Amino acid sequence: MARNPKHDILFEPIQIGPKTLRNRFYQVPHCNGAGSDRPGFQAANRSIKAEGGWAGINTEYLSIHPESDDTHRLSARLWDEGDVRNLRAMTEAIHKHDSLAGVEMWYGGSHAPCMESRCTPRGPSQYASEFEMMTYCHEMDLDDIAMVQQYYVDAALRARDAGFDIVYVYGAHSYLPLQFLSPYYNKRTDRYGGSIENRARFWVESLEKVKNAVGDDCAVASRFAVDTLYGESGVEVERDGIKFVELADPFVDVWDVNVGDIAEWGEDAGPSRFYEIGHQIPWQKHIKTISKKPVLGVGRFTDADKMVEVINAGHLDIIGAARPSISDPFLPNKIDEGRIDDIRVCIGCNVCISRWEIGGPPMICTQNATAGEEYRRGWHPEKFPKKGSDDSILVVGAGPSGSEAARVLMERGYTVHLMDTAEKIGGCVNDIATLPGLGEWGYHRDYRETQLEKLVKKNKDSQIALGAKAMTVDDALNYGADKIIVATGSSWNTDGTNALLHDPVQGIDASLPTHLTPEQVFAGDKAIGKKVVVLNCDRYFMAPSIAQLLREKGHDVTIVSGAALGHYMDFTLEAPNLHRMLHELEIEVIGDVWVSKAEANRIQTYPIFGDGYRREYRGPGKLPRRENTHFDWVEFDSLVLVTGRHSDDALYRGLKARKDEWADNDIKGVYVIGDAWAPKLMADATFEGHRIAREIEEENPQLPLPYRREVAVWGAPHMPGGKYEIEYQV
Ligand code: ADP
Ligand code: SF4
Repeated sequence: MARNPKHDILFEPIQIGPKTLRNRFYQVPHCNGAGSDRPGFQAANRSIKAEGGWAGINTEYLSIHPESDDTHRLSARLWDEGDVRNLRAMTEAIHKHDSLAGVEMWYGGSHAPCMESRCTPRGPSQYASEFEMMTYCHEMDLDDIAMVQQYYVDAALRARDAGFDIVYVYGAHSYLPLQFLSPYYNKRTDRYGGSIENRARFWVESLEKVKNAVGDDCAVASRFAVDTLYGESGVEVERDGIKFVELADPFVDVWDVNVGDIAEWGEDAGPSRFYEIGHQIPWQKHIKTISKKPVLGVGRFTDADKMVEVINAGHLDIIGAARPSISDPFLPNKIDEGRIDDIRVCIGCNVCISRWEIGGPPMICTQNATAGEEYRRGWHPEKFPKKGSDDSILVVGAGPSGSEAARVLMERGYTVHLMDTAEKIGGCVNDIATLPGLGEWGYHRDYRETQLEKLVKKNKDSQIALGAKAMTVDDALNYGADKIIVATGSSWNTDGTNALLHDPVQGIDASLPTHLTPEQVFAGDKAIGKKVVVLNCDRYFMAPSIAQLLREKGHDVTIVSGAALGHYMDFTLEAPNLHRMLHELEIEVIGDVWVSKAEANRIQTYPIFGDGYRREYRGPGKLPRRENTHFDWVEFDSLVLVTGRHSDDALYRGLKARKDEWADNDIKGVYVIGDAWAPKLMADATFEGHRIAREIEEENPQLPLPYRREVAVWGAPHMPGGKYEIEYQV
């Protein structure tokens, strides 16, 4: 298919300093958990995007010196020759596709906890980080300033040696250059503090020094939060933002502009729950009015028409993207080929970010199961190995895991029958996407639905049966498939079983008219009274989302929570606005309590820490602490049970129980994936579907093959080996 001419402008080359971007698609720096310690992962994850059409591709934030060490999180580093060598793998892989490679040179100031290096970071003034725990920086004197500026220069030289085309002096997300610029951090009274010219001086000088050092070979970029969103106490775009751009413009080849800070960087990486495509444009658009250089910016740009619109409106020159490039590394090529409906649109869930925030690489993606798996499992997002046999495969359940398994199996050429009792592909997504702010999560279903419809047309023996009769064990045994994949999902517990007690709660019973599971709320066939209590022992979105849904429908809502409410949303960056929403909607949260028993219209709660703080041995059958004596009653018209989930695995267990009948029915194997195996994140359910489809010919496809690990191996050429020896300082 040919490109739609209205998208032509996206494919025009654009000059940035000494380098040319071959089009206007640009992967801004984003974390992936590779750093410089996993060179294979880094090279493969970034270069797949070059193959998919992105003209500029960056590392994540890259530490220029051990004083800027973000351990427990993982950044890239350019501290020494070893890092140069490891990152060269990335630049070489990117250059094979004629794309440019960039590094985001980072010095964190007090936001660098330095847990590995044990250095003390320096900053413009001394303050405690509002983001890290117990991290203060040392206030720089003029010697310190010169020294840290030289760190940028030295790292830029190493970046050039490693083959990078673009070097950033990174000041967005409240890192050092912005700390100098912002009066929120900078309390100096010398020529680096006070007036905007003085506060800008550190950053402008650093840019100039870097430009002098590598500017003939590399484009110099600046990532700048043009507004920190604190009003006058921080950086405001029409005051300091524009003025800074004016001062620094001569030393910058390309501006990468966004908004926000580090403590709430979800204002930049805006989750779809709160922010639409292009939500930063009202701030970003000011920069092109002042700069003579190309300007790029992010805003979860997944829609080609919207990209063209912001360029034609003169708001941006280059489309920056992190999440859209993770979700679909081939987004530019698909636009180029006129294959808009093949784009795997980012759903804006920020699960990719959550893994990095927690500190556990690799990054994962809800939409793209191959993200982070390019090197270690050899998975390409768009290419699949041909089928390894003529086996036919029955997939029961078309939720995230089943639909992904069926898609990948069909891509491989297998004959697949995908069955679901529901009328629509998508499983749990069909309900989730009706929750406030989560409509875009439906893209997960839409992508698979579109692809499966196309694949079924190509492979006439494959089938999708929706609205089917629930498949029983007998049905599955007699179906005639060689292999069966059970993807029947999970349900919310009806009896209050929860992660605190691992048992039902006395009196909780979703068959009562006043007690409802989330599924019953979605189904809408049980009346919900005015006063609602949402009973929560889950740490993700369901309880706050249902509370919002019912509150917006006019119910009075209280959440009674035994688990930290929405705790996982600290990592998806949804938490700050979630708490604002709960406050604004006057949803009461009673935390740190759990339920001892329930009746039709009330629950008895107790404080989780209501038992004695002293512990002593009292013999068998006796608790080692004084028992709680404090109880309260909370009344309701309706109680929503978000207490925990269980697998709907009856079909799988039934088939396992009749394993001796498999051979007679020509069944070679029965497997279970997704929530039916164990309830999990949608991203992990999708991953399991994808994995089993790629590994279906393995001896035991139920369990994953080992993956390639990038670890330091004792005795490898660069490591000491053989006998353990150590020389202590004496
Ligand atoms: P996952 O996230 O693991 O994909 P979901 O709960 O989203 O799980 O999806 C499971 C799907 O399986 C649902 O659409 C449900 O209708 C379907 N399903 C469950 N049991 C059966 C069955 N016995 N026969 C056919 N479809 C089933
Ligand atoms: Fe988008 Fe979610 Fe994938 Fe991140 S994890 S790229 S937000 S779909």
